Amino acid sequence: MKRIGLLGGMSWESSIEYERMINEGVRARLGGVHSADLVIRSYDFAEIEALQAAGDWDEAGRRLAQDAVHLENAGAEIIVLCTNTMHVVASHIEAAISGEFLHLADTTADAVVAAGVATVALLGTRYTMEQDFYRGRLEAKGLEVVVPDEPDRTMVHDVIYDELVQGVIVAESKAQYLRAIDRLVARGATGVIAGCTEIELLVQAGDVEVAYFPTTRLHAEAAVDRALA
Ligand code: GLU
Repeated sequence: MKRIGLLGGMSWESSIEYERMINEGVRARLGGVHSADLVIRSYDFAEIEALQAAGDWDEAGRRLAQDAVHLENAGAEIIVLCTNTMHVVASHIEAAISGEFLHLADTTADAVVAAGVATVALLGTRYTMEQDFYRGRLEAKGLEVVVPDEPDRTMVHDVIYDELVQGVIVAESKAQYLRAIDRLVARGATGVIAGCTEIELLVQAGDVEVAYFPTTRLHAEAAVDRALA
């Protein structure tokens, strides 16, 4: 079994789910008392959020790349960045490490394509919904990507930062998300990407009528596959 390095804490509300799901996946495959072989770097999310708000992606990329190298020095053979948004600096990490980087947008795109979905809705932070680093990677695999119009887009972003990364789950926010998803389905989406690792804490597959792609679960399962390959 390969050792997995997790860059987490963005936020820990979702990276703790990564740790749980990866361990459960290894147990399901190997049985007995087996569990995952992990090294974890978990950030104070306030520092990362400040860099995001300042648009200082270079500094964020420098820090994450340096810490990915530390994870490799601690024996990690696969690096998993436990956030969709910070894949904006994926190239910094890929350039710094010598091992494998499991890119979340590729994992997600593969699942969407495998499900036969051609037009997919993308929910996430404003950075993920508006910039090219994530949706461009989905489009490169032939997918048509739709994101919420305003005011839904701001609502989706604000619920992530004001509630989900702080461990706050609000029923009315879930209802607002489901109404936003309905509007994206009306625009032609036949699947929805929970493109922020905390969204699946709020909305689960059983809540939506179309195909649902929870990125934390998909990424965790892909990490188990790679570790046991
Ligand atoms: N975990 C979130 C994501 O998957 C948002 C927090 C962050 O900005 O990293 O995008």
